[in-house]
Amino acid sequence: MSFSYQDWCKQHATMFSLHAEADPEMLHAWAMALSASGHSPEDLAEATQHLATTPGRVPLTRPQHLDAITKRLRERQMGRLRHNEESMMHDNHALCGGSGFVTVPHPRTIRDGVWQAPYYTCAVVCDCPTGNRRLASQAKRERKQMTLSQYEARFFTWKSLMAIKDAARSEMEKAKRLAQKGESDWLARRTRLSIAD
Ligand SMILES: [Zn+2]
Repeated sequence: MSFSYQDWCKQHATMFSLHAEADPEMLHAWAMALSASGHSPEDLAEATQHLATTPGRVPLTRPQHLDAITKRLRERQMGRLRHNEESMMHDNHALCGGSGFVTVPHPRTIRDGVWQAPYYTCAVVCDCPTGNRRLASQAKRERKQMTLSQYEARFFTWKSLMAIKDAARSEMEKAKRLAQKGESDWLARRTRLSIAD
């Protein structure tokens, strides 16, 4: 059975000896308020555990309990948000490499959803904090550069277009290598034959 808000009320009461007559109702109200702010029973249990085991954080009065629990929950929530933001930034930077710009197929060379010769590319502004700074610095320009999300709204298949082009290029390189090898094999064989004559 999973840990419930009711379980947390009992746990917190036991851990801090909150056994006054009105305490169960008070703890229940706390749990409901914290639940409304998006905190799970497990989050509350972690906060209780943290307060009980961290020197200097053991609350004395009931209002101090609520403050301390709220503070701990907020700390962890901020930590999670920061972590999400960092990994999001990391994902985007894989595209721009930290430059704030992403190279994409030029809109003028995409016809009917196919990227066509001469395969021009252009740069759009990345959707990461570095890209946002780049965009801000263009604020005074008459025409601002397109952002990646604006571009992707029109050409959502651009990554596969580039991948197809890359694959085609490496196939062609392989074909050229084989042509070269075929030629030298043929030459070597002809030389051997003429020596044998
Ligand atoms: Zn970026």
